[in-house]
This record gives sequence, C-alpha cells and structure tokens, in this order.
Amino acid sequence: MTELPIDAAPTAVDDPQLSNATPGVPPAPGVALAPAVVLTDVSKVYGDASNAVHALDEVTLTVGTGEFVCLLGASGCGKSTLLNILAGLDRPSRGTSEVSGRTGLMFQESALFPWLTVTGNVDLALKLRKVPKDERRARVAELLELVNLTEFAKKRPHELSGGMRQRVALARALAQDADVLLMDEPFGALDAMTRDLLHDELERLWSERSLTVVFVTHNVREAVRLGDRVVLLSSRPGHVIAEFPVNEERPRRIDSPAVATQAAEITDRLKEEVRRHADDRA
Ligand code: ADP
Ligand code: MG
Repeated sequence: MTELPIDAAPTAVDDPQLSNATPGVPPAPGVALAPAVVLTDVSKVYGDASNAVHALDEVTLTVGTGEFVCLLGASGCGKSTLLNILAGLDRPSRGTSEVSGRTGLMFQESALFPWLTVTGNVDLALKLRKVPKDERRARVAELLELVNLTEFAKKRPHELSGGMRQRVALARALAQDADVLLMDEPFGALDAMTRDLLHDELERLWSERSLTVVFVTHNVREAVRLGDRVVLLSSRPGHVIAEFPVNEERPRRIDSPAVATQAAEITDRLKEEVRRHADDRA
C-alpha cells in the first residue's frame, strides 16, 4: 500500500534572494521565482559493499516554479529512486534534495483503498491533512469536478476503469494541496486513447493551478507532448546526460509532426546511451 505523504516535502528552498511570490499571483516582470526543486549532486547506493546497487550518480537538476519537467530514461535507470528522494520517502546517499512547497504523489498503480468510495479516497487525503470536516465535503466535490468524476463519486475502485482510477489518484494528489506534483509513470498502464485524454486534463490542471510538475516516463513521445523540458537520464547509475527544451506551442498533440520529430531526435540520443551502456558491460 502506498503511503500518503502528508508533509513529505524535504527542506524548503529558503534563499531570501529567491523568495517565492504569493501562490496564484503572477510575478512582477523581471522578478525571478525561486526554483521549486533543486537537486545537487544526488547519488544513491542501495545495500552495502558486496551487493551495492549504484542507482543514481551525482544528479544535479533545477526545476523552476510552474515548470513541467519530464524525466526520461530506460527502465531501471533510477527514475523512481529520484522521485522518491524528491518526495522525501527516501534519502540520497550523497548530495541534497530541496523541494519548496507541498508535494503530491502519483504512481502507475493508483493505490486507492478498495473498500472506500471515490469520495472516501479523496476525503481521506483531506482528513490526513486535518482539514475540518465541514470544509471537506465541498473540497471533495470541487476536486471530483476538476477531474470529471462527479457522477462516479459513490463508486468503489473496482467499479472504475483504469483511467478513472488514475483520475481519482490525481484528485487525491491535488487534495494534498500540492505545489509540486511528482508523477511516476502515472499513465503507463493506460490505453493510448485514455492516456491522451488524461494528458489534456493534466495540462489543463497544471496551467490553471500553477503547479510545478516532475513527470517520470520512459515514453519519449509522452515526454515531448507534456514537458517544457525533457531531461534525459543515463542507464544505471542514472545521471543527467542531456536536456531538451520543448518549444512547440501548447496544447500539443502526441501524434503531431513536431512532437514526432523532436521525439525521434531524443530517441536517437537514448538509443546511443543504451548502446554505450551495453558496450560497457560487454
Ligand atoms: P526506474 O524507476 O528507472 O525503473 P528504479 O529507481 O526503480 O529505476 O531502480 C533503479 C535501480 O535501483 C534498479 O537497479 C533497482 O533494482 C534498484 N533499486 C531500487 N530500489 C531499491 C531498493 N529499495 N533496494 C535495492 N535496490 C533498489
Ligand atoms: Mg520506476
């Protein structure tokens, strides 16, 4: 069962030079917002000497407030490890991870409580945050409206499609009043059409609520469809090998020629990395 982080955010970024503006209020022109995420030389080794697994190697990454960053890398390269460190669920072996604001988490499996209704699952996240009972009913209704699930409020998870379950998980992540949404291959198990719909919805929520999103995927087109920037990780131990700003205007279509062209460029780089890794091991 996935733990619901309540105050999972590690150390806040508190450089007075970079103080964040009031949430929801656009910054004055020329005022730099503090970065939402700062990873500095983060390395992670699981286990000890004889059976050590070196998962991450000196990852340095900054994510701006309101930015949508996609982390892309081959399976096993340390993406989930990195996200867990950002969420404060795991600690780096070396280096520092700083996230400013509250984090909300979403995984490939929705990790809903099967005995609770849709309403109950979202309400629980509010309860854990100690939101008073008389405010919760309206908050749950608002969140279900946001993810287009109002008419399914009384259903239990087994009565929902995979896409709907992920919508509930999204509502639950938002119920944590997240400033920074950490998403670990959240649409990886969905069919292409449902995934396209959820891309549109996530993009809408991200822009309406001024969220910062760190989105992990191994799907190159998905990364280009969604990201302001795609950060490419090497094979294990993961470290940043390339970054690709995505300049195509939003909303984008995953099957547009521009997305396909940039995805092809990134795929070539990724293939080169996978080959290099295979040669190293030969
Ligand atoms: P990804 O999400 O990119 O597929 P992970 O972050 O899950 O990769 O894993 C990176 C590497 O670290 C893998 O080799 C995995 O087996 C190893 N690993 C992950 N978590 C643990 C753990 N708790 N203990 C030992 N090894 C782990
Ligand atoms: Mg993973």
